[in-house]
Amino acid sequence: MSSSTNPTSAAYKHAVEKLGMKPNIAKALEIPDRELTVEVPFRRDNGEVESVIGFRVQHNNTRGPFKGGIRYHQHVDIQEVRSLATLMTWKTSLLDIPYGGGKGGIGIDPSKYSKTELERMSRRFFRAIDPIIGVNVDIPAPDVNTNAQVMSWFMDEYSQLHGYSPAIVTGKPLELGGSEGREAATGRGTAIITRETAEKWEIDLQGAQIVVQGFGNVGSYAAKFLHEYGCKVIAVSDVSGGLYDPDGLDIPTLFEYNYKHRTIDGFEQGKKITNEELLALECDFLIPAALGSAINEQNVDKLNCKVIIEAANGPVTGDAANKLWDKKIGIIPDILTNAGGVTVSYFEWVQNLQQFKWDEEDVNAKLENKMVKAFNEVFALKKEKNVPMRIASFMVAIDRVQTAYNLREG
Ligand code: NAD
Repeated sequence: MSSSTNPTSAAYKHAVEKLGMKPNIAKALEIPDRELTVEVPFRRDNGEVESVIGFRVQHNNTRGPFKGGIRYHQHVDIQEVRSLATLMTWKTSLLDIPYGGGKGGIGIDPSKYSKTELERMSRRFFRAIDPIIGVNVDIPAPDVNTNAQVMSWFMDEYSQLHGYSPAIVTGKPLELGGSEGREAATGRGTAIITRETAEKWEIDLQGAQIVVQGFGNVGSYAAKFLHEYGCKVIAVSDVSGGLYDPDGLDIPTLFEYNYKHRTIDGFEQGKKITNEELLALECDFLIPAALGSAINEQNVDKLNCKVIIEAANGPVTGDAANKLWDKKIGIIPDILTNAGGVTVSYFEWVQNLQQFKWDEEDVNAKLENKMVKAFNEVFALKKEKNVPMRIASFMVAIDRVQTAYNLREG
């Protein structure tokens, strides 16, 4: 991706310029600390050995251990893992969580392997990256196509080598030290950020019209909590297409339906629309919660919303973001909006280290505090410097890492 289409590197450069950072420090914070590429040999169910390639990139640990998910996808390569690891450094810093940024993955299509093959592959991968991870060094988590089961294998593999260590990964099942509130955390954080945005943008939250693209973990929980706040969710979509009702969809029933069937397809209420039609609907908040680059040069001129809440990672391309700034359509960036997930992952790690379980109310209250504080910091800087929320977010995040870096190096 060029820097004009990659919103992260474009935002980094813009924020560095606005902060007046010294070029040597800007360069130091851009370069990953360590990148590991490993061969992962494992036995297929037919008895043959197959080798795949795995990665772990540790971008920066100035403010705490590396933290970031492990992705299984055919598009995974070193560039993608590097840019996602970098994003984690800024996200953890923005939320003022004592972590750095990391990411990992294996470049495979997991649908081509059986569960037992995935287990052998996962365990072998974790052994291969064992020399560079640790409870206070680097703490992986689930990402695209990895889940609580994969984290259980990782935790088991690490514990066999080092003794019982639930804090080595987050996103575990509750029975193995997972946290209450983790499943809903990213959607809950997205709803909190939308609520705060409504106040600052002077949009009445009661009856505010919401459109959500993607009704998976993040999108469905965001819709559920926004509905509870009194918003009117008028359209949602998933890979099967969209549903639209100008009077508002029955979100609690749709949430249950989707939880059971893993799709909104077949739900009785609402008019069927395409994803293109959904993006063009008139609304207060458009929440892309599915894919990267969903809003791009091709469709940006058709949007009809007041504010975009980036729940997915990188759903608005850099070029589209520039156009939206000119048209005075706000964008609340991913590193702020979807940081609820890593925040509750951090809470999970703290509970594991304390060997003490918090109840869900406690987790949610702490998440609320963190999200609101970060939002207010970003909004204050946006006002002071007259920059978009994305640039203000990067400025807060980079400045915090820079200060820590200078204290440690100086
Ligand atoms: P998910 O797999 O649970 O859900 C993805 C949803 O998007 C599904 O409903 C799917 O049908 C839909 N979708 C896929 N292609 C689509 C298309 N072309 N048009 C419309 N909908 C489409 O994933 P998730 O965990 O909800 O993650 C969504 C996004 O949020 C991703 O970008 C992810 O990286 C980001 N994110 C997730 C978390 C988390 O905690 N889950 C945290 C931070 C960021």
